[in-house]
Amino acid sequence: MEIGIIGLGLIGGSLGLDLRSQSHKVIGVSRRAQTIERALERGVIDAGSTEFGALSSADLVVVCTPISLIVPTVKCLRDVVPPGAIITDVGSVKGRVVEPCTTLYPHFVGGHPMAGTAEQGIEAAQRDLFQGAVYAFTPVEETNPKDVEILTGLARSLGSDVMTCAPDIHDQAVAWISHLPVFVSAGLIEACGLDVDPIVLQLAQRLASSGFRDTSRVGGGNPELGMMMAQHNRTALLQSLRSYQQQIAQFIAAIEAKDWVQLQTRLAQAQKLRPDFVD
Ligand code: NAP
Repeated sequence: MEIGIIGLGLIGGSLGLDLRSQSHKVIGVSRRAQTIERALERGVIDAGSTEFGALSSADLVVVCTPISLIVPTVKCLRDVVPPGAIITDVGSVKGRVVEPCTTLYPHFVGGHPMAGTAEQGIEAAQRDLFQGAVYAFTPVEETNPKDVEILTGLARSLGSDVMTCAPDIHDQAVAWISHLPVFVSAGLIEACGLDVDPIVLQLAQRLASSGFRDTSRVGGGNPELGMMMAQHNRTALLQSLRSYQQQIAQFIAAIEAKDWVQLQTRLAQAQKLRPDFVD
């Protein structure tokens, strides 16, 4: 297949490396000419351009730009790609993307590979990023089942475990397991950093070890990611944050009341639930 990739960063670049290794012809489009040059040097693409016109014979285009650019990109692309070509995206939020893109272009299918690293840009692209990862597609009533079938085959060829779900269900689920943890973790770091006693603060900073490293990791990352989550998945994130706030309030109430039985029950319940989410 001739496959176009728009946005040659971590996700787009990694896709290019894997798809080329399977003998697909990969055409890259990115904003900056130097990114195209580097993508060619790294073997991420067969050819590249800063113009969408380069995708005029693509069978399939994967939009790997920041989320806010997905809808405007699909709007431009629909007049460029051959009739019937599939357009998909990799955005981490689906509700605000899938509906307008499906209206703009009938062969659009929303997608989200649950894979990534903390790095960004073309230098972060790596082989086998999608191996063993869940790849979610979010078809709606208007989506062509044949398009989903083709994309499913392609994602499986990357070693991904494919699942389908509705866009709004996807967004609530990622709010729980991906977006809420960023704000919980950021709040933790801030609360610790706000201790008014400089001696305590200094000691806490020296004592912080693996537990704090684990719980602060996602909140101490790139602020743009958290902003993206809040802006593009606002409703689902607020719902998760409010529910989390209630849990914290209940912990506070149990500790204030010295209700150790309730506290023990809840901590045991959390211990039992964790393996349902992660090994
Ligand atoms: P990234 O590494 O920052 O790459 C984004 C690329 O988009 C940049 O390299 C940039 O290319 C290009 N770009 C920016 N503006 C553009 C424009 N106007 N036109 C064309 N290209 C443009 O970001 P990423 O992590 O790959 O994320 C890309 C998408 O994947 C996002 O929608 C994100 O939600 C989704 N996603 C990310 C992860 C993750 O863990 N990072 C996981 C799953 C899904 P230039 O170098 O040319 O400026």
